[in-house]
Amino acid sequence: MPETIFSRILRREIPADIVFEDEHVLAFRDLHPQAPVHVLFIPKQPIATLNDATPAQAELLGRLLLAAAAYAKAQGFAEDGYRVLMNCNRDGGQTVFHIHLHLLAGRPLTWPPG
Ligand code: AMP
Repeated sequence: MPETIFSRILRREIPADIVFEDEHVLAFRDLHPQAPVHVLFIPKQPIATLNDATPAQAELLGRLLLAAAAYAKAQGFAEDGYRVLMNCNRDGGQTVFHIHLHLLAGRPLTWPPG
């Protein structure tokens, strides 16, 4: 898998505003937030796109979701609500090819997305 900016954040080669870390997952604030809360949850094991994920990585993918929900609860906005999403490839708008779950919160989010 080609090197990405998120690999460099994982190796602490470039700074990031890290809000959560465990053995499998790192979470940090998006550089260009689209909502008052905009955090990215990434697996420490690099996977380029959701298309590249394998059944063996199912637990890891689930960990991203559970980490996002735990963060929402810990920060006190879980009941108000939030959105989690993962962009895939060109039409999905993916720009960094190390999968990441976006967590957006802090304002009412419209649907459908653009
Ligand atoms: P996506 O378009 O789904 O691939 O999302 C990539 C996200 O990474 C965008 O929302 C960017 O604003 C964000 N991003 C890019 N570089 C950085 C960085 N160095 N630190 C934090 N977020 C970043």
